[in-house]
Amino acid sequence: MKDQEKHAGAVSNLVDQLCRLPGVGRKSAERLAFHLLRVPESEAYALADAIRRIRSDVHYCKACFNLCEDELCSICQDPQRDQTRLCVVEQPRDLMSLEQSQAFSGVYHVLLGRIAPLDGIGPDQLTIEPLVDRVRTGNFVEVIMATNPTVEGDGTALYLSNQLAEYPVQLTRLARGITAGSVLEYANREMIADALTGRQAL
Ligand SMILES: [Zn+2]
Repeated sequence: MKDQEKHAGAVSNLVDQLCRLPGVGRKSAERLAFHLLRVPESEAYALADAIRRIRSDVHYCKACFNLCEDELCSICQDPQRDQTRLCVVEQPRDLMSLEQSQAFSGVYHVLLGRIAPLDGIGPDQLTIEPLVDRVRTGNFVEVIMATNPTVEGDGTALYLSNQLAEYPVQLTRLARGITAGSVLEYANREMIADALTGRQAL
C-alpha cells in the first residue's frame, strides 16, 4: 500500500509537471505519464536525459546567439557560409525555419525576442548591441531584417534600421510572401524561400 501511494505521488508529480508545458492539458498529461510507464525503461530515461541535456549543454552562440553546444554554432563555424550577408531573426526557431528553406547561405543574428513595449520588452533586453558591433566591425554588404511580419516585428526592424543606418550596408526586409500577422515559425519552406528571394530595400 505504501509503495502504491509513493507511485501515485510520483505519477501525479509528473502529470503536474507536464501540465505546465504549453498546449498540454491535464488529460494529455495523464496520457503521456501513463505512456511513459508502459514504454521500455530505456525510452523513458532517454527523454529525461534529453531534457537534462538541453539545459546543461545548450547555450547561446557567442557570435550570433543561436543555440549551440560549443562556443560558436555550426553555422558560424562553417567556412562555406557567406560572411557578407547577415539575416536578423527574433528567435532560434525562426533561424531553423529559414535554414529548412535552404534559401539563405549567409549568417544569422538572433535577437532573442522583439521590441514589445506593451510586454515591457525594450531594445536593451535584446541582443541589439552585439548586432551593431558585428555590423560595425564585420564585412557585411547586406543585413536582412527577417523579424516576423507583425506590428512588433515591423517595429523592431524599423528600430534596427535606424540603428544601422550609419553603416555602409544595404538594409533589406523579407518580402510579404509571408502574410502579415503570421509568424516565420509556422510558414512553410516555399513561403520563406519566396520571402527571401523577393526581399526589398528598407
Ligand atoms: Zn552562431
